[in-house]
Amino acid sequence: MVAPLEVLAFAIGIKPALRFAGEPPEAERWRARGAAVAEGHGIVYVARSEQDARALRDAEALVHPGARRRAPDAEILEAHRALGRGLGYPRCCVEGFVARVVRGVDERADGTRAAERVVAAEDALRRTRVTHARLSFLLPTREALVPFDPCAFDCAPSLRYAAALFAAYEAREPESAASLRARLLAPLSLDASGARSVEPVIEIVFDRF
Ligand SMILES: [Zn+2]
Repeated sequence: MVAPLEVLAFAIGIKPALRFAGEPPEAERWRARGAAVAEGHGIVYVARSEQDARALRDAEALVHPGARRRAPDAEILEAHRALGRGLGYPRCCVEGFVARVVRGVDERADGTRAAERVVAAEDALRRTRVTHARLSFLLPTREALVPFDPCAFDCAPSLRYAAALFAAYEAREPESAASLRARLLAPLSLDASGARSVEPVIEIVFDRF
């Protein structure tokens, strides 16, 4: 199922396309609404044009979750770039992700291993001067404002995206938005598996929303 906040981002025009694990009935519902839809690899792609939807599906052909694993050569990295850019993720954040693919997405800077979300958070924290809770991506994806891993917790294009989306959400569902804001602002203590923990490997206290 597609995350409601992503659907809102698509509707207000700040996200060019949607990608979600596909159930055919959901793809049909989007088609019935006149959206451009492509399907493949068990994934549904919704975009502004049929061409864009097909381009996303083709970009993911080598890197979808069921694809045969192969070393991250230039073609694989280009596929990740095309997918991330096509989904509207900021260039700096896409490059941050590509760098982790090269290194190994579960490999921390010190060579030990941790869950992908923990490694992404550590990378982001190293580049951050002011931590903004609206870029917290450690909630389940469907609750996060940003549907990608920001390169830093003060990444400018990510902050603009999250601010625009939150404003639209607040205008439509003020109570749900207030509750999301409180959850995003809560400090995070995560263990190496990415779970909340009393023995954290990473702690993030947000400076502001
Ligand atoms: Zn960024």
